[in-house]
Amino acid sequence: MSKIIQAIRGMNDILPDEAELWMYTEETVRRLFASYGYGNIRMPIVEETRLFNRSIGEVTDIVEKEMYTFPDRNGDSVTLRPEGTAGCVRAVLEHNLLYDGPKKLYYEGPMFRYERPQKGRYRQFHQFGAEALGFAGPDIDAEQIIMLGRLWKTLGLTDVELQINSIGDNEARARHRAALVQYFEAHHDRLDEDARRRLHSNPLRTLDTKNPAMQDLVENAPKLAEYLNDEAKAHFEGLQALLTAAGIPFRVNSRLVRGFDYYNRTVFEWVTTKLGAQGTIAGGGRYDGLVEQLGGKPQSACGFAFGTERLVLLLKEQGVTSPAKQPDAYLVHAGEGATAHAIRLAEGMRDAGLSVLMHGGASSFKSQMKKADASGARFAVIIGDDEAVVGDLSLKPLREGGEQQRLSLPAAIDRIREYH
Ligand code: AMP
Repeated sequence: MSKIIQAIRGMNDILPDEAELWMYTEETVRRLFASYGYGNIRMPIVEETRLFNRSIGEVTDIVEKEMYTFPDRNGDSVTLRPEGTAGCVRAVLEHNLLYDGPKKLYYEGPMFRYERPQKGRYRQFHQFGAEALGFAGPDIDAEQIIMLGRLWKTLGLTDVELQINSIGDNEARARHRAALVQYFEAHHDRLDEDARRRLHSNPLRTLDTKNPAMQDLVENAPKLAEYLNDEAKAHFEGLQALLTAAGIPFRVNSRLVRGFDYYNRTVFEWVTTKLGAQGTIAGGGRYDGLVEQLGGKPQSACGFAFGTERLVLLLKEQGVTSPAKQPDAYLVHAGEGATAHAIRLAEGMRDAGLSVLMHGGASSFKSQMKKADASGARFAVIIGDDEAVVGDLSLKPLREGGEQQRLSLPAAIDRIREYH
């Protein structure tokens, strides 16, 4: 016998047991984002490669090493999206969505990065992302952070810490970058291979190194905060004041940088210590230059994304479960003509808004009743030859005391509803 085909490494099936928690999480997020005025947008999973090269940046880890890029059958280079912001901004420009003012949008779906798979890190993973386009002030940055804080609270999550930083505007970043290059050049012998390679292309990324041997060097490197102009400083102070006023605790992490080139000013992450190395649940920030960079009129913007796998892992870790969804009734049936009658009754109950599980396949009443009990249903509806001939049903309470009763369909619906 040939070996069965397995899913691709780093790409997971989400099985029914776990999917319950996924659906609960997704529905909670959708409701919450909508309540803050975010409208849903859905973009294709595949985009032209140059969209990502141009927005995420040529010398980022994602573009250099992690994209699923291939020629389509016409020879055009296409890429499975590694993140959602670029595609979202592309769609906004293509459809001129900002014609009547700022927009708040959210999306969800699979993203693809060729990373080394481990707990909390996969090659196909899922994100929810929110983008606020056309908003300049720190109020929108604060609101997005507050919205995430509310999401954790709604889901019952604890142990998530908010870290924020400002990476300033282009000019400050350029001056800081020059100072960094100079500093790293002066300590060239202590740089690892990645840092040497990035010395001139992306020295900022080295500040985020996980290499223990370089921590000291990085600790003493020139700080971006010292290069911020007054406007960026005021923006960052404004954000901090709003978060404080909203009662959201945060830590300023002056080393926080993100793996995309399009960010400026605010960057933030929500981090947990409960998921080992992959502790970042959500990340985001401001990207005031991206709309123009992708061919639109200049527009300020701010956004974030979080990984659904990591969120679900953390929920499981903390013992959060989705509210149980027990069916109202389990329909047990056997005998001549019973099945046709049973289907009719089940549909009648569903018309009345009840959830009904109908036993599939032929087996004894006894084993069907065991299944009914195990399903968690509140009632068993029993259809045998008698009921089929008379056109009624037997209703047996499974979770409360009480006798089995012969009832008409409307009477049974009333009885089940009473129980609600
Ligand atoms: P990023 O788009 O890199 O800012 O990541 C935003 C969030 O997406 C992270 O905080 C994670 O929760 C999630 N994420 C990013 N990459 C992965 C991955 N390879 N596997 C699972 N989740 C991921």
